[in-house]
Amino acid sequence: TSFDAMGIKDDLLRGIYQYGFEKPSAIQQRAVMPIIKGRDVIAQAQSGTGKTSMIALTVCQTVDTSSREVQALILSPTRELATQTEKVILAIGDFINIQAHACVGGKSVGEDIRKLEHGVHVVSGTPGRVCDMIKRKTLRTRAIKLLVLDESDEMLSRGFKDQIYDVVLISATLPHEILEMTTKFMTDPVKILV
Ligand code: AMP
Repeated sequence: TSFDAMGIKDDLLRGIYQYGFEKPSAIQQRAVMPIIKGRDVIAQAQSGTGKTSMIALTVCQTVDTSSREVQALILSPTRELATQTEKVILAIGDFINIQAHACVGGKSVGEDIRKLEHGVHVVSGTPGRVCDMIKRKTLRTRAIKLLVLDESDEMLSRGFKDQIYDVVLISATLPHEILEMTTKFMTDPVKILV
């Protein structure tokens, strides 16, 4: 399969090719289509196999950049990973004018507030800071269509479980699809092992 055959929007395809990718990696071949179609997906793959890029790509495909609401939220266990994911999203989403923000601890809260109030399509963050922004009602969750828990095993082992539960719990206005995930975690997920 090629990126062209995946039904990806033209301006996003341009971004992918400009970034230097020619064809999807194994995990991208298997995970991108189901995610874009709205299926819940659990994917397991070694690092360096194109997982971050797969997240970036599906996030970019999912958001409607004509709306300034947060439509995708990615939670990562470390600031570095959250920031790396934001960078890849900004790079491949260049031609769709995507606005992404890394919401991580150790950075200025004021800057987070300014960015979020200005309006972003995507937030890539660590659980603590994301929770904080949701509690302040600076990060609004009602328009979120895609929730990604990156390195979820790592997040659980780092003791973020309560905070992840918090994110879910205090996001009472999340759309039906995501609410469903809060009770069952996932609905009939597609399981991908690479
Ligand atoms: P990732 O796991 O997404 O961080 O990707 C690991 C490395 O492979 C990074 O340097 C990516 O830029 C690169 N990469 C990811 N997907 C592709 C692809 N489809 N074609 C070429 N390189 C890729």
